[in-house]
Amino acid sequence: MTAASALIVAAGRGHRFGGELPKQYAPLAGRPVLRHTIENFLGHPEIQNVIVVIHPDDRALYDRTSAGLDLPEPTLGGATRQDSVRRGLETLVAQNPSKVLIHDAARPFVPHDVISTVIQALDRDVGAIAALPVVDSLKRSRDSIISEAVEREGLWRAQTPQGFRFREILAAHREAAERVDGSTGLTDDAAVAQAAGHSVTLIEGATEIFKVTTAEDLERAERWLSSAALETRTGSGFDVHRFGPGDFVTLCGIEIPHSAGLQGHSDADVGLHALTDAILGALSAGDIGQHFPPSDPKWKGADSALFLRHAMEMVTARGGRFVHCDITLICEAPKVGPHRTQMAARVAEILGCSLDRVNVKATTTERLGFTGRGEGIAAQATASIQLPSGPSAQEGG
Ligand code: MG
Repeated sequence: MTAASALIVAAGRGHRFGGELPKQYAPLAGRPVLRHTIENFLGHPEIQNVIVVIHPDDRALYDRTSAGLDLPEPTLGGATRQDSVRRGLETLVAQNPSKVLIHDAARPFVPHDVISTVIQALDRDVGAIAALPVVDSLKRSRDSIISEAVEREGLWRAQTPQGFRFREILAAHREAAERVDGSTGLTDDAAVAQAAGHSVTLIEGATEIFKVTTAEDLERAERWLSSAALETRTGSGFDVHRFGPGDFVTLCGIEIPHSAGLQGHSDADVGLHALTDAILGALSAGDIGQHFPPSDPKWKGADSALFLRHAMEMVTARGGRFVHCDITLICEAPKVGPHRTQMAARVAEILGCSLDRVNVKATTTERLGFTGRGEGIAAQATASIQLPSGPSAQEGG
């Protein structure tokens, strides 16, 4: 899996609702539009980090909007959108990601499969953007009278995300910023890439990637949210591994020193195995043994994060998203309590979700049974996901 960074541009001053708030901070179903947008990208397993570019005047608004989310300091935007994007790209230089997806804050509903397709396209292409073919007849007018029909063949409406290889788009933006004419004709990042001589591929976007600009759009977004036919699925998982020789155990991705190890074909991480099975269960996709047969030498000693990521990618491929999980580790020793926070953080990192969507807890069995006798560790997990129900959800507008 190749990961990408996401750059969300939220530095605009549009007050087109006529209200006090810039449009990206307008409440949509009780939360700012920008919060929906950020969570959508944070929840995608192939997005490794999210950078938000904000207007310097919006710092307090942004802090409220992003409360509780695992995000780095926001980048302060410039005088134009292009300038804001360039500043955002500059903050990514230290991390030097191979791919970056640049996205408008005011487009909260990007289907996860569109994000995946844009990221995949960047294995071949320098640039790939979401866009929709024009289906209406097009007319050019003079004083509200049709002067000519415009051939719509080959015409697309550009959306975002617009994905690029990082080095190339950074260089293209730096070049554009230095141009004397101010590069006024460059209306989006695809145009910036093209001006630098790169070709940009069109990826089929989706009608729900509309921009929330006017009060009408906001109503349409509310309708879309309430009509989006997502169903919630819950799955459960259970796993046991026995103790054997060793001096540490791996639980929920964290190595904990212990007087024994856990035996298994992979790293024997019972917590991640139970969670992987819970997600596969919610997908009605069988169990971990079917996807990663223990008979296959390829999985010997494997990091179980691989299994969990695979299950998450299946959720994303179905147009779904992860909602929440709860993992219970069952053993007398080692003590799980001191490591719980770190375990939850590691699980959230693997799933690409916020910390408040993961719970890890532990119990003993009062010295009863095989866990009570210290013969092994058991784990159970539940996971909730959302999947589109039936044919793809219709938008409300
Ligand atoms: Mg197992």
